[in-house]
Amino acid sequence: MNRINDTITAISTANGAGGIGVIRISGEEAVIIADRIFQSISGKKVADMKGYTAAYGYIYDNGEKIDEVVLTVFRRPHSYTGEDVVEISCHGGLFVTKQVLRTVIRHGGIPAQAGEFTQRAFLNGKMDLSEAEAVMDIISAKGKTEARTALACREGNISREIFKINDLLVHCASHLSAWADYPEEDIPEVDSAVLKENLIKAKSLIENLLKNYDAGMIIRNGIDTAIVGKPNVGKSTLMNQLSGYEKSIVTDIPGTTRDVIEETVVLGDVTLNLSDTAGLRDTDNIVEKMGVEKARQKLNTSSLVLAVFDSTQELDSEDLQLLDSIKDFPSVAVINKTDETSILDTEIIAEKIRNIVYISAKTGDGIDELVRKIEQLTGTAEFDPSVATLTNERQRSCAVKALEALNEAVSSVDMGFTLDATTVSIEDAIQNILEITGERASEVVVHNVFKNFCVGK
Ligand code: GDP
Repeated sequence: MNRINDTITAISTANGAGGIGVIRISGEEAVIIADRIFQSISGKKVADMKGYTAAYGYIYDNGEKIDEVVLTVFRRPHSYTGEDVVEISCHGGLFVTKQVLRTVIRHGGIPAQAGEFTQRAFLNGKMDLSEAEAVMDIISAKGKTEARTALACREGNISREIFKINDLLVHCASHLSAWADYPEEDIPEVDSAVLKENLIKAKSLIENLLKNYDAGMIIRNGIDTAIVGKPNVGKSTLMNQLSGYEKSIVTDIPGTTRDVIEETVVLGDVTLNLSDTAGLRDTDNIVEKMGVEKARQKLNTSSLVLAVFDSTQELDSEDLQLLDSIKDFPSVAVINKTDETSILDTEIIAEKIRNIVYISAKTGDGIDELVRKIEQLTGTAEFDPSVATLTNERQRSCAVKALEALNEAVSSVDMGFTLDATTVSIEDAIQNILEITGERASEVVVHNVFKNFCVGK
């Protein structure tokens, strides 16, 4: 169904009581509908208002006063969607905002679907697909780096790189086709060395876009981290120290943390999805056994392991067993209780685990160092939010396909295949690269991008 001629409307602010609620109307009839329901104090009609101006007044529904509002007008194409847009800021109560929305709908507005405002912005050329996706990322950002990265994308950070890559490839492809299609013209022969050089340049631009992808994903989604160690080494205390509040039960009886306790904490730029486990020792206690089993499973699905050791105790067989079971995981050995006298021989640990940090979970000493270590290990330490980086699986898969096509193009140049074959591979790469910005994305792809949006955006 083509809805592009409909004037759509939705509550654009969060669903809940707040100081202000905003109802957005976008489309050809936005101003007409606004005039049907709004009376400004000054008596001025919305139709006579210029873009970027606001008026104070009341919303009426068939003579009944609904709310006191401020109405803002945006004239096409200078609006979020590129269409005429009216935004009504009313009181933020759940009931009142819905009443205003219903009034708009009763007077001609069609309820907007999820992401429809942003989809119109895309269709009207106000932003490309990667920029539209960035809008969603800005809304859902949990931390500063994530928000800065999303904002940079919103401002065309990815798009500019895509233009650059596309220019380079189009230049290669058009030279190739011109030369192949018009043999009688005086078109200079394609120099395969120059061609290859350009293809490699395009490849490295795409590789750069992919380079920070994993670190970016970690920043966005957090890193699954298991805290392991014998009972009583201070796992729960560390977890509490990291999360800033008490959730696990801290006691002096070994084996009390029976289940896996999970917590998401934001440390600097990294979000850790922490699991505090029961430890990994052999035990006859059935309940504890179940906990140990869960701990093992957790370990296997974690991307990072924090192995905690008690510096006031000598290393025992249980510690050694633990060291063995984690040696293949990216891990940090956390030597705890440095506020007391140490008798632990850390050299044996150092032989098995490269990263060692000394902390006191009780006092918080050394926690900063632990966070730095985690940032180094996950590659988030060098992450620069201002550098263009692809931000989701859709974009990544397009880039990977483009890269594969370019590899084929390069090998066909190397092997002296026909230039036609090279052109096909370059075209394939262009197709994939332009799918990132949506310039050549199918309707299905576009639909998929917007269906994850919220209504009102
Ligand atoms: P878990 O069984 O590994 O989760 O260990 P807990 O976090 O329950 O801690 C066991 C005991 O060690 C508790 O009495 C804690 O107060 C104590 N503890 C934990 N961390 C430290 C530390 O850094 N220094 C000292 N002195 N005691 C600690």
